[in-house]
Amino acid sequence: MSADLQAHIERLAQDLDVELWLLINGDPDLDPYGEAVSDPRVVKITHAPTTLAPYMVALHELGHHASHAWTGKTLPRLECEALAWNWAIENSLIEPDWNLIYARLAAYGRLADTNRRFKRTQSFTDLIVRVAALTGTDAISVTHNGDPQKDPPS
Ligand SMILES: [Zn+2]
Repeated sequence: MSADLQAHIERLAQDLDVELWLLINGDPDLDPYGEAVSDPRVVKITHAPTTLAPYMVALHELGHHASHAWTGKTLPRLECEALAWNWAIENSLIEPDWNLIYARLAAYGRLADTNRRFKRTQSFTDLIVRVAALTGTDAISVTHNGDPQKDPPS
């Protein structure tokens, strides 16, 4: 299975004309983290996408390339995040890691409560409510305040 997941990510990257950079950080306990870069078209990931969480992160970063243009100014940031996660969910070969997705979305939701640069969009709210339900989280709690602990994942 793990080889299948990595092969899937590599194939999608190829189809999207995206370079995949695996940045080994030496700490297997660190959260899997990724970043999508528009020019050149690159996805940076910190863990090989051979297990569920790193696979979801890699799918999400590829989703940025697949699901929205990189104009940056026309789409709100949280809209881009929602589009990339929706794409990851649709393209996952296995049951998505709903807890991971919820945690990432909730981090952005908390920023939206405290930072004017981050605004919830309808599709962001629709997605976080849907994912919260799948994790058994009370949907009310996802639309209210929290304190941002650190920069959100990209
Ligand atoms: Zn993202």
